[in-house]
Amino acid sequence: MPPTSKESGLPKIRVSPRGAARLKSGHLWVYKSDVTPADGIPPASLVTVTDQRGKPFGTALYSSSSQIAIRMISHDQVSDWPALIRQRISDAIAYRHKFVRDTNGYRLIFTEADWLPGLIVDRYNDILSLQILTQAMDANPVRESVISELTAKLNPASVVERVDPRVRELETLPPRDSGLLHGKKTATTFAMNNVQFHYDALEGQKTGAFLDQRENYAAATQYARGQALDVFCYQGGFALHLAKVCEQVTGVDSSRPALEVADQNAALNQRNIEWIEANAFDLLKDYSASNQLYDTIVLDPPAFAKSKRDLDSAIRGYKELNLRALKMLRPGGILVTCSCSYHVSQTSFLEMLSSAALDAHRNLRLLEVRGQAKDHPVLLNMPETGYLKCLISLVT
Ligand code: SAH
Repeated sequence: MPPTSKESGLPKIRVSPRGAARLKSGHLWVYKSDVTPADGIPPASLVTVTDQRGKPFGTALYSSSSQIAIRMISHDQVSDWPALIRQRISDAIAYRHKFVRDTNGYRLIFTEADWLPGLIVDRYNDILSLQILTQAMDANPVRESVISELTAKLNPASVVERVDPRVRELETLPPRDSGLLHGKKTATTFAMNNVQFHYDALEGQKTGAFLDQRENYAAATQYARGQALDVFCYQGGFALHLAKVCEQVTGVDSSRPALEVADQNAALNQRNIEWIEANAFDLLKDYSASNQLYDTIVLDPPAFAKSKRDLDSAIRGYKELNLRALKMLRPGGILVTCSCSYHVSQTSFLEMLSSAALDAHRNLRLLEVRGQAKDHPVLLNMPETGYLKCLISLVT
């Protein structure tokens, strides 16, 4: 039997001085290598976390298989976890009511950033799309509390679970299919900044759309003009927004299913947009070699650096794309360039762009340094919660 905390009755887990320092810095994770081997603690347990001398740090969720052994849920003792979940969901909803505008598609719960580690919930109008990423959040009583609170507070037509099989494998959770958890509806439309989007809860990447770019779409329309190219357009997030202010818009992506939805979205908004199915690297190479010119270019590639090890090759990838795009911009043109790789810091992304500008012989004036939309909150003491960079620049 593992030792239990006298006060809370929860199993106790000790963290190394390095783990303790991490928690003291305000971070919410402790890695497996920084906890005293936790034999006998069942997977998915709530645990009391202490330093080597037994001084408590609070309560955490324990994973028996993940490299992240501990995810803090409170600095206090937690006696009623389902009640705390309900409170956190209610706080998350209140935060969005306060700060999210002009949309009925947004992230309602963003895991650690809402103090609900391992839970993501996105709202697409009347459908909620949920993702569970940890052992503790997968437990049945937890699922029940989450779903009952969400349905009571928001009365959605349905709640759909999107399963990432790789995450379940890492957490040694039994396989499970994506599907409906509540209600029957699986498709709807939602709007961001007065642009309409189709949403099919059981199709698409991530939980469906890239909601984290919502405020950047609106920002891009402040500067975009003329002939525009949206590279890595997915279902047309930027392209549809650019079409409000640009004369001509082309979207490029390698995914045919994504472009099919993009085309339906264009019809829904009565916009005429050209969609090209292509590898963006090849297309930019051809277009820049043949001197094709644009007034606005958006680059929003997938995360190139999945881990720290990929950093150098990721920067090379970003630089190649940005260099070619800069060569294709007319004077007075606008570049909107994004990176959703957490491992690429804002500083290295800015350095990459300045080096690309030098090589392309272009002067760039930085108009905006942006991040993810406010419904994806960033915890200042937990850098992993902030990942999106979006730079808007003017070619002078
Ligand atoms: N800008 C989009 C999100 C882009 S996500 C939005 O705002 O909604 C990244 C996209 O890049 C995905 O749609 C993926 O299909 C596409 N992609 C990945 N590799 C690609 C490549 N080599 N060439 C073109 N598209 C690619």
